[in-house]
Amino acid sequence: HAKAKGKGNYQFFTASLNTAVQQRLAIESQLRNALPHGELLLHYQPQVDLRSGRIMSAEALLRWLQPARGMIQPLDFIPVAEESGLILKIGEWVLREACRQLRVWRDDGHAGMSIAVNLSARQAMQPGFSDVVAAILEEHGLPPEALDLEITESVLMEPSEENIATLRCLSAMGVRLSVDDFGTGYSSLSYLKRFPISALKIDRSFVAGIATDASDMAITDTIIAMARHLHLQVIAEGVETAEQVEFLSTHACALAQGYFFGRPMDADCLTALLRQQEQEAAGRTAGQPRPR
Ligand code: C2E
Ligand code: MG
Ligand code: MG
Ligand code: MG
Repeated sequence: HAKAKGKGNYQFFTASLNTAVQQRLAIESQLRNALPHGELLLHYQPQVDLRSGRIMSAEALLRWLQPARGMIQPLDFIPVAEESGLILKIGEWVLREACRQLRVWRDDGHAGMSIAVNLSARQAMQPGFSDVVAAILEEHGLPPEALDLEITESVLMEPSEENIATLRCLSAMGVRLSVDDFGTGYSSLSYLKRFPISALKIDRSFVAGIATDASDMAITDTIIAMARHLHLQVIAEGVETAEQVEFLSTHACALAQGYFFGRPMDADCLTALLRQQEQEAAGRTAGQPRPR
């Protein structure tokens, strides 16, 4: 009797399930072609030193310009890329492209500039990943310190043997490792002792309330203080207002990133911004005796 009663539902569910599966498969096959068809690109968001106001670095953020649908944001395709394993090839492309662009900026006179690249859990688990990173740095003549790999707490909380080996190897090489979205993943901090982390990125959900919400103020202040005690760098993400900048400056947060300083932009826009910054710095020192 269950069969007879449920027959219509069963057909309904298969129909909608099929649609979902088909959509998922369609995205996956389009994504598979995105790389060879040149549809992937990187935008860059400035990371700013709060004392000097200068751009020290940029985070590379992936975009997919799909001919039929326009610009697709990472949250709409990175999960598919991760589940399908396509993230390995795509992630390697991101790393190479970001390093190529950093080389261009360094050659354009921004010698101290560095780059931050997001790493997915699967990439970090890939055997030989640190060799790939070393090869890409070498290809572009970049020192390992110029690269900052952003990893999420989930990678650090359930590390496989390969993860541990890879992260230790990268850090021994001199590559910097940052914890992305810090404070949102897990309440345990023990991984900070086990891994060679260089920086914490305070998640924007805390930064959003630092000018108005007492618990966001307390949490952000505590993360900054903890980072200082652990000799880690700290960077605030999602900074949108002057009030937030004021709070972060008075609480000795060294670095910040967010719409207040610049939205993710194409490489040419950031090039223009960097040049403008150099000109302003040159203008300020013009007429003054040159330091010896
Ligand atoms: P994320 O690494 O935490 O990157 C920061 C996200 O916050 C970016 O979103 C950025 O556009 C956004 N954002 C920056 N400043 C502000 C602000 O002031 N206000 C608000 N409301 N948002 C701000 P996006 O570009 O959509 O990227 C989303 C996520 O996708 C990233 O989060 C990262 O986890 C992932 N992702 C992006 N590119 C890559 C990649 O190449 N590889 C991997 N594995 N993941 C990536
Ligand atoms: Mg990130
Ligand atoms: Mg983040
Ligand atoms: Mg985030």
